[in-house]
Amino acid sequence: MDYAINEMEQEVLNATREFAQKKLKPLRAEMDAKEQFSNEILEEYRKSGLMGLWLPEEYGGLGGGITCLAMAFEELSRVCAGLALTPGTTALGAIPMFLAATKEQRDRWCPDIASGKKLWAFALTEPEAGSDATALKTTAIKDGDYYVVNGTKHFISTGKEADFYTVAVNVNPARGARGISLLVIEKGTPGFSFGKKEEKMGIRTNPTYELIFENVRVPKENLLGSEGRGLLYVQETLDYSRPGVAAQAVGIAQGALDETIPYLRTRKQFGQPIITFQALGHKVAELAAKVEAGRALVYSLTHRMDEEFLPAVKNALANGTTVHDELKKLKGARWTKYSAEAKLFCSNVAMEVADECVTLCGGIAYMRDFPLEKYMRDAKITQIYEGTVHIQKNEIITALIKEYAAKGDEE
Ligand SMILES: Cc1cc2nc3c(=O)[nH]c(=O)nc-3n(C[C@H](O)[C@H](O)[C@H](O)COP(=O)(O)OP(=O)(O)OC[C@H]3O[C@@H](n4cnc5c(N)ncnc54)[C@H](O)[C@@H]3O)c2cc1C
Repeated sequence: MDYAINEMEQEVLNATREFAQKKLKPLRAEMDAKEQFSNEILEEYRKSGLMGLWLPEEYGGLGGGITCLAMAFEELSRVCAGLALTPGTTALGAIPMFLAATKEQRDRWCPDIASGKKLWAFALTEPEAGSDATALKTTAIKDGDYYVVNGTKHFISTGKEADFYTVAVNVNPARGARGISLLVIEKGTPGFSFGKKEEKMGIRTNPTYELIFENVRVPKENLLGSEGRGLLYVQETLDYSRPGVAAQAVGIAQGALDETIPYLRTRKQFGQPIITFQALGHKVAELAAKVEAGRALVYSLTHRMDEEFLPAVKNALANGTTVHDELKKLKGARWTKYSAEAKLFCSNVAMEVADECVTLCGGIAYMRDFPLEKYMRDAKITQIYEGTVHIQKNEIITALIKEYAAKGDEE
């Protein structure tokens, strides 16, 4: 079922579905095998207008919000989860900026994001700070009108290809987590270089790099929001971006089914199409039901989010304020639990579906010239990035304990 509820969403759904089939499908196997970023696809993204779906029209975007972003990510990932990351990681890098940025910062950066001229990435993880972001060691010490940044980030998606990096740094290590802040650092700034390129299991066409900062001087105008509030912006970003990973997981699962069902219909053993063996047909039915449940969960959440996100964006543009402050004024819901539930459920569904589809199709699915093994390799990352399955469970149980404690206090 499609969950587009307005004309714009339906158009985005149709356009990305067609784009993925026409542009991504012919190149996905080759780019995955070469482990190469595709500039050809980047050009296609630029021409298509897909890079700025979620940004307001004032900046050259479509004004589609979180739902349109998730829908596009689902449809692109349904065909190739790696090539889908070009707009996906730019959104992840740009969302914290968009939430916390002043009008001047938005005006400076958003038009080039919407047009696809500049790619963004998000750099939180470090060798010693994965699930525990508070342990990050990258420092940014104030020196006049600059911050001087030193440290190393690793596992950064779209590394080297992105032009701007939203980097989590500590401006006051003595204050621990309360010193964590976000800086936008441009590729090419002296002292900023790239280290190891990772060789990966899946999403191979999207480069994953180490970032090295050695006395990098970043103008203070590139600080997002206030010093010391970095973790708050990171959490707010993940609340909005985790449904995107959930949508990606739904896309991967659906794509695996898209490859599996036609094969099961045509492959014959014991004189009959193997889909007519009830054991196989019932398994497909179970998997399809789980994919649908995941999709319903994602879009019921993003539609509720957009009821706040879109008015907050409109108000920020009208008032010259930050989106973060306008969201606060609307006293909206905290999405952390629901985002974590969507990501947890959908990423587990993606892994289960991809794995079962390989089993259902048999030996052919283990071979590289059949696309299913790629879906299985790609599905795994949705259980890891933007917080592992365990971290999503921690978020959910923390929220539940608070909810029930509050109920207990009321009684
Ligand atoms: C391909 C790829 C792309 C990535 N892209 C980016 C990116 O663009 N930007 C970025 O900043 N990061 C990125 N990451 C990093 C990713 O977000 C981290 O890998 C992830 O958050 C887990 O951190 P870790 O790998 O250090 O694992 P660790 O934190 O070391 O975790 C190891 C294990 O311990 C478990 N664990 C840890 N703490 C707890 C706890 N409190 N309770 C229960 N279990 C726990 C974990 O769930 C996991 O099973 C990427 C990672 C990969 C693999």
